[in-house]
Amino acid sequence: GTSAARTRSAVLERQILEDPGRFRILTGDRPTGRLHLGHYFGTLHNRVRLQDLGVELFVIVADYQVLTDRDVADRLTEHVEELVLDHLAIGVDPERSTVFTHSAVPALNQLLLPFLSLVSVAELNRNPTVKDEIAHSRQSAVSGLMFTYPVHQAADILFCKANLVPVGQDQLPHLEVTRTVARRFNDRYGSGTAVFPEPDALLSEAPLLLGTDGTKMSKSRGNSIALAAGADETARLIKGAKTDSERHIAYDPAGRPEVSSLLLLAALCQGRTPEEVADDIGSAGAAALKRTVTESVNEYLAPIRSRRAEYARDRAYVLRILREGNERARAVADATLAEVRAAMNSRY
Ligand code: ATP
Ligand code: MG
Repeated sequence: GTSAARTRSAVLERQILEDPGRFRILTGDRPTGRLHLGHYFGTLHNRVRLQDLGVELFVIVADYQVLTDRDVADRLTEHVEELVLDHLAIGVDPERSTVFTHSAVPALNQLLLPFLSLVSVAELNRNPTVKDEIAHSRQSAVSGLMFTYPVHQAADILFCKANLVPVGQDQLPHLEVTRTVARRFNDRYGSGTAVFPEPDALLSEAPLLLGTDGTKMSKSRGNSIALAAGADETARLIKGAKTDSERHIAYDPAGRPEVSSLLLLAALCQGRTPEEVADDIGSAGAAALKRTVTESVNEYLAPIRSRRAEYARDRAYVLRILREGNERARAVADATLAEVRAAMNSRY
């Protein structure tokens, strides 16, 4: 569960500081719109922080996965470019890190076939995140892609033998699927040596940031604050956020989730604890809390937003980064697929 993953994340943080070269990260997002503060404090910030510590970083733009809960990949090119812009803006460095699109790496996707054979339908059925996403989906029927996407993610992570995956809390069940697939593949085909690592999830201090309606901040729920949003738009969204009627502001995530998530957001932007932020506000009420959050967020995001606007003027550069990233990812995937085929005895 989450508390075990938090404990494990603390151990990993120490190991990363000791020897960043031991780790390789794979993580990514679906190109379904602009990234938001939930992404940022849930995983994006860790991507950049660890990149800067010397951990190798792969970022997948999961374009096929758009179709898990949508009929068509609407405005796909635009959304893919938005994702790249968001990553450049927060400091992902394409010289050191690889940003690539899922659909451009056929060998990665070929791993799906042996991987699917390693999990049972009953196991896929039990996945709580898939259940939740189906409940929030606009589609009436559950597609095979939705049902199997945790296995696709296993291929996304294992194709480059990543051992570290900075994610939000909703991804923990999927990481378990990836670990299971890796373990079973190694047991069945490894003949004593591990072909794949069993990757660890790395949680941030905000593994589940709430949106303005008090549920998980999510692109598809219309409750998010985009990194690229304007300062006024941000103010308006935060003003409309759900809180409670108690005037005294205190950090109590279990009892007062909405107020606490806002406090956490301000705290992360200010580099302080949510309790300190709460003490500042005292009994000034939700309106004062929202003013603090708005100021903190806008101040924190200002340099990110201006870098993003600059990169947005150079579309050719964005496309070049993807072309180069795709090429690097293809070379890595080809090597892994060759190993997998050899392990499975397809030597022709
Ligand atoms: P969609 O609504 O299209 O599914 P999403 O907002 O749920 O989008 P994903 O692309 O599914 O975002 O998630 C990308 C990454 O961001 C995952 O690692 C996920 O755990 C993390 N993440 C997303 N939302 C949050 C959140 N509210 N708090 C913390 N982490 C989050
Ligand atoms: Mg999601």
